[in-house]
Amino acid sequence: MRVGGQAELLLEPKNPDEFQKACKACVERGIAPIRILGGGANILVADGVLRGVVIATACLQRVFRPGAGGESEEEASAEMPGEFDMELPSAAMVQDDPARDPRLVAWAGCTLPKLLRTARELGYSGLEGIVGVPGSLGGGVAMNAGGRWGDMWDVVESVRVLGAGGEFKDLARADCTPTYRNGGLGNEWVVGAVLKFEPKPRLQIQEAMSEYLITKNKVQPVTAWSAGCIFKNPPAEVSDGRSAGQLIEQSGAKGLSCGDAEVSERHGNFIVNRGKACAADVFELMEAIRKHVLDATGVELENEVKIWRNEPDEGESQSS
Ligand SMILES: Cc1cc2nc3c(=O)[nH]c(=O)nc-3n(C[C@H](O)[C@H](O)[C@H](O)COP(=O)(O)OP(=O)(O)OC[C@H]3O[C@@H](n4cnc5c(N)ncnc54)[C@H](O)[C@@H]3O)c2cc1C
Repeated sequence: MRVGGQAELLLEPKNPDEFQKACKACVERGIAPIRILGGGANILVADGVLRGVVIATACLQRVFRPGAGGESEEEASAEMPGEFDMELPSAAMVQDDPARDPRLVAWAGCTLPKLLRTARELGYSGLEGIVGVPGSLGGGVAMNAGGRWGDMWDVVESVRVLGAGGEFKDLARADCTPTYRNGGLGNEWVVGAVLKFEPKPRLQIQEAMSEYLITKNKVQPVTAWSAGCIFKNPPAEVSDGRSAGQLIEQSGAKGLSCGDAEVSERHGNFIVNRGKACAADVFELMEAIRKHVLDATGVELENEVKIWRNEPDEGESQSS
């Protein structure tokens, strides 16, 4: 969205061990809150200085195959967040391997576009549905990013998280309860994940991605400065099956603006920054939209976007 202020403290760990040390150091020094920044594609930061610390995962970029190069599966996955130096083999090598294991390990900061490109090159299907979604693996898992063609958690086999005590924990998919736009991890931070795909011809994967992207680009303001969908789609029984975008449009809120923040002409659930908007403009516009929709339809919209601002009694570690 390109609005908002600055972090008081910013840490950029370059591997999972540093991520763990950074969290422990902040806890030991009583620095709070600790906020985790992925790609920032679904966050609105308030104007001014944000108290506490932001830990950015941007340098945790690795993606690799578990067990590649002859290690046992156990050894490889045990090393997931540590020093695993096996590079990805060429796509041709993998496609020719009849016993290929269609899984990938990705660290939290691996961007979703990079992950999708890697999977496509290797002939791994399962994430095509989130093509065009910006951000990182960690943010995608935390938010259960997705849409009508599938969600991030469809391919998650396990997630390695940092618990509140600063210890690494591996959570199997069966022990997690992701829901609509919520990975259900609470205050546990994603360090990386093991993703399980289905082998498919690369062309088929590419064709699906192109089709979804074309459809998406027609209805979303993909090149404008935005934070994606601002509000969650309400449960169908509350909204008669109407999406947040449809409710906004029907309530007449589509033309609203505040400063340089305006409701996108292309998609009612996107607020775009025309250039000089500040966070206060966006917050004001969000409340105006919420009121319009409530008055016109009786439905109360809930934020999808995460808001980072200083709270008087801030002690929590992740935003609400
Ligand atoms: C143009 C556009 C289109 C979009 N389209 C879609 C779409 O179709 N579907 C969809 O679901 N979303 C969409 N989004 C929203 C966004 O891309 C997703 O929510 C994405 O998953 C956010 O990832 P991120 O890394 O940028 O997370 P951030 O925005 O950095 O963070 C989002 C939340 O996740 C938390 N988080 C980030 N990393 C971690 C971590 N390692 N561990 C624990 N918590 C973490 C943050 O603390 C924050 O609470 C869109 C956004 C834009 C700008």
